Amino acid sequence: MSSREGNGKLKRFAVLQLSGCAGCEVSLLNANEWLEEYQLVYMPLVISAYIVPHVDVLLVSGGVRTDEDLYNLRRATRQADQVIAVGTCAISGGVASLGNRDDVRELFLAGGDRRHIPRLLPRCAPIDSAVMVDRYLPGCPPTPELFMAILLDSTDFRASRIVCQECGRRKLRDVRPAHLTGFQHGHVEPDICLINQGYLCIGSSTRGGCRAPCPRAGHPCVGCRGPSDALIEREAQDWMDSIQRVFAGMTDIPPDEVAEALRSPQLALFLFQFSDYAGSSARPRPKEKVL
Ligand code: SF4
Ligand code: SF4
Repeated sequence: MSSREGNGKLKRFAVLQLSGCAGCEVSLLNANEWLEEYQLVYMPLVISAYIVPHVDVLLVSGGVRTDEDLYNLRRATRQADQVIAVGTCAISGGVASLGNRDDVRELFLAGGDRRHIPRLLPRCAPIDSAVMVDRYLPGCPPTPELFMAILLDSTDFRASRIVCQECGRRKLRDVRPAHLTGFQHGHVEPDICLINQGYLCIGSSTRGGCRAPCPRAGHPCVGCRGPSDALIEREAQDWMDSIQRVFAGMTDIPPDEVAEALRSPQLALFLFQFSDYAGSSARPRPKEKVL
């Protein structure tokens, strides 16, 4: 579907970056199909402008970590017809939510005499805790293909239900590891499911659409696309339980070992995904809004 307005003019879009890493912006810039349909009018990484002008679409990346994030978010969304939360940080806290851990927060706050820096909020928050969001595009970062699918409202885009369906590795019944293999340890066999090799891959409960670049390359899926449609409107614990059931069915790894690894600081990416569901009052995202 074309994003041009009826008068043939290009639609206008902006990218607001809150606390994050700019990975989403780089991924967006790796696609160029949007140039036919949109005029990019604001994106601090590539276009200098003080404020977000009125736009048809506002993409927001990054979590709400500081009072400046909150101010910029509220100001920008007033200028937008449609708001899309892009990336894990805007949706679940992401990398910026690492600062929710007590030890990291203390480190930040230790410099009490620092001046002229934004004031940290008590916790990193997803953007829909502060403003209305029309659509969600999870990923860390979302791939260029996913950016195009949401910006161009493509009816051709097809995503699999879960990452395993896009992975191509075979699950074997008779190969049951007894313990987890640590990240960056050991040899990775091609073609065989990483769980059969003892790696903590959570592609079975993670929504598809990314085309599984991580497990295809031999790295476990860490769930950056968030929960699949079957789990997205449920509690974080349901996602955890689903992962545990997969490991119980395919391995002889003690359940406690899997549970501990899922929550360990070394595998903090998992925690990013759960950060706004686990133990919080955050409402689930309606799946029809999530690409
Ligand atoms: S669990 Fe991981 S490696 Fe195995 S099929 Fe699913 S995505 Fe691929
Ligand atoms: S395979 Fe998993 S971790 Fe990698 S991009 Fe896809 S959802 Fe994210």
